[in-house]
Amino acid sequence: MLIESLMMQARANTTHWLDSARPPKRLPLEILPVRVETAIVGAGIAGISVACELVKRGGDPAGLLLIDGAAPGHGASGRNGGFVLTYPGTIMNDWLEKYGEHFVAQLMEKNRRNRELVRDTVERFAVPCQRGGSYYIAGHADEEDWLRASAEFLGRDPESDATLVPPPPHSPHQRQALFVRNDFGVHSGEYLNRRLDECEAQYVTDCAITACKAEGTGVVLITTRGLVHAERVIFAANVHLPLLNEFFARTIPITPRRNQVMMLRPANAADRIWGDAIYYANEGYEYWRQFPDGRILLGGLRNRDAEGEARIELGANNHILEIMEHEFVPKLTLGAPFEIERVWSGVMGFTPDEIPVCGILPETDGRIAYLGGFSGYGVGLHRVVVETLVDSLGKKDPDPLFSPDRIRQI
Ligand SMILES: Cc1cc2nc3c(=O)[nH]c(=O)nc-3n(C[C@H](O)[C@H](O)[C@H](O)COP(=O)(O)OP(=O)(O)OC[C@H]3O[C@@H](n4cnc5c(N)ncnc54)[C@H](O)[C@@H]3O)c2cc1C
Repeated sequence: MLIESLMMQARANTTHWLDSARPPKRLPLEILPVRVETAIVGAGIAGISVACELVKRGGDPAGLLLIDGAAPGHGASGRNGGFVLTYPGTIMNDWLEKYGEHFVAQLMEKNRRNRELVRDTVERFAVPCQRGGSYYIAGHADEEDWLRASAEFLGRDPESDATLVPPPPHSPHQRQALFVRNDFGVHSGEYLNRRLDECEAQYVTDCAITACKAEGTGVVLITTRGLVHAERVIFAANVHLPLLNEFFARTIPITPRRNQVMMLRPANAADRIWGDAIYYANEGYEYWRQFPDGRILLGGLRNRDAEGEARIELGANNHILEIMEHEFVPKLTLGAPFEIERVWSGVMGFTPDEIPVCGILPETDGRIAYLGGFSGYGVGLHRVVVETLVDSLGKKDPDPLFSPDRIRQI
């Protein structure tokens, strides 16, 4: 019942990205197929990218079925900020301490590769995006020290395009920032729908998976629209993963973090105060960007009600929205009046160390695989996690970088 009601909520609650994107070329299937080769559960950026990757490596799109309990992009992927970042924020210092320099350097390399892969899609499909680089602005003195330490680490890599700079003009925080020249912001809905076109896979909507079990040489999925038999299933259900399977619940602690997002039109929109860059600040709890037409998208502030936002249900947090409207927005519009066009929320699936996980369920002979836990960073990492997962299909040991073993060792 919980899964079904969450899916209904997502269906009822759309966003700027979902409403302003050109729809996918294909319509969803009306009738649920009874038997498929590969079923992918979840049509967010992760699930759709798995489909693209399988097809890229020679898979037949006709053998693939994307199954979503709501519809493509109705999860976090159509609710986010669309920031394609290669610097994960000052949490990188925790990773250096926990896992060492080699691990973090590998992750940063994957990060940059992800950015190149997304850029390639953006260019091929003319997905609207903002290419002014990203600013991560320190919100307090300790964070400025952490930022300096990460800038020093990043600076050792000759390919890094990150530099420490003074606070950008108009910044709500007057502290140093890390500027990453080639980061960009995408139109999340366009990106997702064009990827769906690219993979040419069939998909079904409003079809929630409530259970699954390995049976014979395949897998049976129990859905709200009937049974599906698949040779192989890949779960990309984000924060809902632990609801689906005992193994996920036990071994991959993915927990929900909800976020509020606001879209507004300031009276001084024509000034384009924030230009073409994307901004996040104060441990990533605040983020914003301004579109070419002057509207501003902003979000976050979950630190102002951490308990209230630690939930899987979508919904407005009025306390946070008030802080946004009365404290945060006036700083971003430099006091100019503004009109709030819409608000929405989205839920991220966090792992304990905020690095995603992927792998194969034990004792299923590679028949059931999963990826998720992208935390606040799925746009920045989904493509390389998908590559890692697809590399490991059919093998026993996934790449250790994104293996949940990493978390068990913490
Ligand atoms: C407000 C917000 C802002 C963010 N900003 C950024 C950002 O700027 N940059 C960045 O890198 N990341 C950002 N993120 C994180 C990023 O959006 C996510 O990491 C990413 O979208 C996760 O993709 P996904 O495909 O794993 O999950 P989702 O997009 O959530 O997709 C999962 C899909 O599975 C479906 N599903 C779930 N359960 C079932 C079931 N039982 N049966 C069938 N289908 C099911 C859902 O309907 C959903 O469509 C943000 C997230 C939020 C919420």
